[in-house]
Amino acid sequence: MVSIEDVSATVEEAHLLHQHRQWLELVLEKLEGYCVAMVTTEGLLLAANPSIDRMFGINSVNSVGQGFFELLGPVQAGSSTVSLADIKTALLDRGSLRFDMALHHQSGKLIWGDILVSPTMEEDNSVNGYVFVIRDASKQHDAHISLVKDAQTDPLTGLFNRRGLESSLGDQAMISSSAGPLACWIMMDIDHFKRVNDTYGHSVGDDVLRQVARLLKNSAREGDIVARIGGEEFLIMLLGVSLATALVAAERLRHQIQDHKLISGSDHIQVTASFGVAEQDCGERWAKTVVAADEALSRAKASGRNRSVTAENRSQHIDRCTNAPLDCSHHDVQKT
Ligand code: GH3
Ligand code: MG
Ligand code: MG
Repeated sequence: MVSIEDVSATVEEAHLLHQHRQWLELVLEKLEGYCVAMVTTEGLLLAANPSIDRMFGINSVNSVGQGFFELLGPVQAGSSTVSLADIKTALLDRGSLRFDMALHHQSGKLIWGDILVSPTMEEDNSVNGYVFVIRDASKQHDAHISLVKDAQTDPLTGLFNRRGLESSLGDQAMISSSAGPLACWIMMDIDHFKRVNDTYGHSVGDDVLRQVARLLKNSAREGDIVARIGGEEFLIMLLGVSLATALVAAERLRHQIQDHKLISGSDHIQVTASFGVAEQDCGERWAKTVVAADEALSRAKASGRNRSVTAENRSQHIDRCTNAPLDCSHHDVQKT
């Protein structure tokens, strides 16, 4: 009698186990948008649900035994490649780990994965593998990136706005790695721009701003930055040039703008601009140099417009990297 009861309990247990396994298989099979993979401690794929095929183009049956990270690779966080060893280290003092990471479809297409990884344990608590649950978060990631980009871009000209400039540079002082000049900043403001709006209308004014922006952008070199930081005010950073070179660049731009016939519909418009130029001292925050460039621009405006003026009273600055005096001779370039 006792042995009959024991057998029926075992049968019941086996039935429940079978039922649970069926449920689990069904859930994993039908679970769209979530790739669930079991991986050995050596990083080999043990089993995966069919979503691995839908998301990554990896055959869930044929790929068993292959390196999981190699199948999804290169697995990247920022610019560095991530290995299973990195994940094992990060898991040491945690039960599970959740992170975003760039993965690859078999076609090479980038997929942004929201990943949850947990170790699986033996009865003695030793790790015998890992379960990865990966959600394709590419759409949300792209939407986030485009929101950030929009917030940093001037919609009229496509240039950086002030926020874009700030986030691309941070507020740290830049330290030159070489003995050469660090950077120069040019603040530019279109002269009497209000008159353009008053004479031709606001949308023609917008056209002029777009064309001036294009002209500035086209003359920028790799590493330079051009931003629209106000209505008709632009800021240019010239990387690794001396004040004298930046002054020549400002003058070249000034002539280009003056000589350029801006066309908007049937209107042919000519504008001029004024420039303030300042050299960034080694160890100086760029925002401080920009104030100096802005002061120089005010003097360019006050002394007649359509001219370039360099920042004053900065020649006593000593380059703290080289300990040599900077070439900060003052130039006031008059209208030509
Ligand atoms: P100044 O030579 O002293 O710089 O004179 P200004 O007329 O250029 O300067 P002011 O600051 O008096 O006027 C700037 C004008 O720029 C006023 C504003 O209507 C115009 N403005 C600002 N943003 C935009 C814009 O996005 N589109 C257009 N069309 N005009 C703009
Ligand atoms: Mg102006
Ligand atoms: Mg202005």
